Amino acid sequence: MLQIPCPWCGPRDQSEFSYAGEAHIERPADPSQLSDAEWADYLFMRRNTRGRFREQWHHAHGCQQFFNAVRDTVTNRIEATYRPGESTPGGQS
Ligand SMILES: [Zn+2]
Repeated sequence: MLQIPCPWCGPRDQSEFSYAGEAHIERPADPSQLSDAEWADYLFMRRNTRGRFREQWHHAHGCQQFFNAVRDTVTNRIEATYRPGESTPGGQS
């Protein structure tokens, strides 16, 4: 079973967490200025990266905090986890 290091609680079994999708999706500053296609792109379209990927996780059966992780989608290895607002360890991907 995958171990995920929650930034607040430390390593815990994957079963305690919920996957919450791609990380660092920025909400448009003024959604009323977007076309329907641009708004739909913001709401629904996410990358499907092979390899190093920044994603969100929720420690649903623990501290209830959301946090970010850098995970390799090929090997399933978690490179790092970090709190919201912190920069990505190792840079963006
Ligand atoms: Zn936690």
